[in-house]
Amino acid sequence: MRFALSALLLAVSACAQDHTTEAGEAAIDDPALECAPYSYAPVHAAQASFPAIWQPVTSVPASDTVARAKFLAMNSSIPKIPPKGTLAGDFDAFSPTYSATDPDCWWTDTKCVTPKLSGLKPDIANVPEPRTLGYGFDDGPNCSHNAFYDYLTEKKQKATMFYIGSNVFDWPLQAQRAVADGHEICVHTWSHRYMTAFPNEGAFGELYYTMQAIKLVTGVTPTCWRPPFGDVDDRIRYIAAQLGLETIVWGYDSNDWAVGFNGVTAQAVQANYDALMADASAGKFNSSGAIILTHELNNFTMQTAMHNYPKLAAVFDHIVPVQVAQNKTQPYVETNYTMLDFASYVANRTGKSATSANSASSSNSSSSSSSSHGSGAQKVGKAGAGALRVSMLAVAGASAGVLVGAALWA
Ligand SMILES: [Zn+2]
Repeated sequence: MRFALSALLLAVSACAQDHTTEAGEAAIDDPALECAPYSYAPVHAAQASFPAIWQPVTSVPASDTVARAKFLAMNSSIPKIPPKGTLAGDFDAFSPTYSATDPDCWWTDTKCVTPKLSGLKPDIANVPEPRTLGYGFDDGPNCSHNAFYDYLTEKKQKATMFYIGSNVFDWPLQAQRAVADGHEICVHTWSHRYMTAFPNEGAFGELYYTMQAIKLVTGVTPTCWRPPFGDVDDRIRYIAAQLGLETIVWGYDSNDWAVGFNGVTAQAVQANYDALMADASAGKFNSSGAIILTHELNNFTMQTAMHNYPKLAAVFDHIVPVQVAQNKTQPYVETNYTMLDFASYVANRTGKSATSANSASSSNSSSSSSSSHGSGAQKVGKAGAGALRVSMLAVAGASAGVLVGAALWA
């Protein structure tokens, strides 16, 4: 009887809404409460040995002997490519000096994904499996992502989460949820600046300390990363590769982060989603699949993702995390964590997506349209659309870094 009672108490406590455990945080259904700042002891204890949150990493301190040794071991072999532009992405002074032959395979200049430097692997910009979408979200963990992650769980859908180190330290329990839900985590740098502008040491620190933050909070160390704004060249690729990180970019850009800036509208974002789906319906991915860039940045981006999920599922045979599509069954440094290979993932997924592009016609007759975002009519998980709208304000208010960086976010 005592066992039964303690089991009951455990069950009750697992459902409690609080900021002390991953399950407690995941159970919160009020976005404002989700985004209430909290202290997490392991992060609090380690903070002094990490860079300042939301500040660009400038150095690897001598006191961090492990990091320092790792950086010095690679420093002399890092390609002698000078940093480009500014950390805020101003390349006006630099670009006129840069050769039209793109000697550094600078993505920002030419969308180059095949390094000029020998020994570097090409960036991952699409997935090898036919009629398959590599699915992922940048800029998390967003403090108010419960309704969105609930939705993915309800759809039995896993994704690749590109987490910012500073967000992981701000919202560690939310970061833990990605692992608990079976998503993949990749690195999206410490402070979300333009990586090609960093000197070697800063670039190393932006990646290294994000890896360490994710390890501290979730127990796993990523082996993949995505450059903010796609800003990568062979020098940065080399540093990432030395840290064991594969570079993942994208072939399709939803531009969802940009709504509200420079006249970008919700309709324009929907048109970007629609272009991907039109290509899928036209058979463009019959021999290999695609990757789309989307974000868990705010209410709009998460709600737009949910709005489009059934439509994507109707035109792609499979929607999978990027590394699953690559059959990378060991996505982390730690060998005790494995993901399913592509065939197993597809076979094990009970809530499967549509199996034929022909079924896309059903979505064409739907009354939903690009103008329906934010109407509150769609199902958005337990928090509801109105609550998600509130969450956007909560996110914006939660971190000055988000506000500062918002106009340049990607
Ligand atoms: Zn980003």
